[in-house]
Amino acid sequence: MDLMEYQAKELFAKHGVPVTLGVVATTPEEARAGAQQLGGRVVVKAQVKAGGRGKAGGVKLADDPDEAASRAGDILGMQIKGLTVHRVLVAPTAEIAEEYYFSFLVDRANRSYLCIASVEGGVEIEEVAHTNPDAVAKVSIDPVTGVDEAKALEIVATARFPADVTDLAVDMVQRLWAVFIEEDASLVEVNPLARLGDGTLEALDGKITLDANADFRHPERDAFDDSAAADPLERLARDKDLNYVKLDGQVGIIGNGAGLVMSTLDVVAYAGERHGGVKPANFLDIGGGASAEVMANGLEIVLGDPGVYAVFVNVFGGITACDSVADGIVAAFRLLEERGEPVTKPLVVRLDGNNADAGRRILDDAGLAGVERVDTMDGAAERAAELAAAAAERG
Ligand code: GDP
Ligand code: MN
Repeated sequence: MDLMEYQAKELFAKHGVPVTLGVVATTPEEARAGAQQLGGRVVVKAQVKAGGRGKAGGVKLADDPDEAASRAGDILGMQIKGLTVHRVLVAPTAEIAEEYYFSFLVDRANRSYLCIASVEGGVEIEEVAHTNPDAVAKVSIDPVTGVDEAKALEIVATARFPADVTDLAVDMVQRLWAVFIEEDASLVEVNPLARLGDGTLEALDGKITLDANADFRHPERDAFDDSAAADPLERLARDKDLNYVKLDGQVGIIGNGAGLVMSTLDVVAYAGERHGGVKPANFLDIGGGASAEVMANGLEIVLGDPGVYAVFVNVFGGITACDSVADGIVAAFRLLEERGEPVTKPLVVRLDGNNADAGRRILDDAGLAGVERVDTMDGAAERAAELAAAAAERG
């Protein structure tokens, strides 16, 4: 998960990285109130998960609360790299003397961490690396020993930060390292890391990518989740621990295994070209287990999409054999009936792999209304597309 600047700054503050938090506003009125509360000149900054906001006109200075409201009005609703600005950060302006660049990231190729630092910050680091590669220091970090005071000093020296900020920089580098490790981030970037008029250092911008594999260690991360902005079905799927992505087609897809589901999307899209251009309506991987409850939850979400006219259940039996999956489908139908949401849209089921014969027999014997069994993936995709196109035409 990528964090917005104001969220990154909250994590910086938690680890004692010098930062000014400011006030987050979603309307010009809130920005005015924020500026009033802060007093003096403020900077109004677009909060979107994209860099280059400054260049795009998403960072503006304001002399007083009225101007802050007006700048917020300009920035809110603006598009930056395809993202709409819904929030601005209002913060006291900093008197910038110099702008440096600093980051920690995962260096996969070398199985270690990497620090990139430069005294030529503010602009995009890729640009500096291109025009003045000598100004970009890269210091490899041993994952076992990490960054202690000596390593921080090596980084600061290699980057050639001015001698009079060495002590402050060494302290800041160690604190940023704490953010990187303790927050389980895969990227921590500060650009600009500013030297202010009074000689102190401050993180004026922050970009953090959190490693989702460590979410279980960080219940507090829920607060950063902006799923309120996500599709309601995707939110429901997440609550039920399902791997679901909403698309805008007519054929609902349920499969086991991400690779199989991806190829199912392709096969359905091809088949759809022969049936009025119907398309897959979603990605849904129900994983290996595919118990009745997981199948019921999956069906509930896919059928909850009003754009879906037919569903293709594509299962390849592996460790979980086809007979267990077939039992799951039958039980899921009963479960949905009990929940008062009986399945009324056509379902095409393809079962292959481990215990396919037993699974097919279970489905046939159950005689579920609206369920058709087709034993090849291409054939099933064709049939599902055909049913969806016909149902869509009826409306
Ligand atoms: P980005 O363009 O998305 O990376 O956004 P930044 O937060 O890095 O802001 C872009 C530029 O705006 C910075 O490099 C600074 O030059 C300037 N800027 C940001 N905050 C302040 C501030 O508080 N005071 C002043 N004077 N300039 C700022
Ligand atoms: Mn920046």
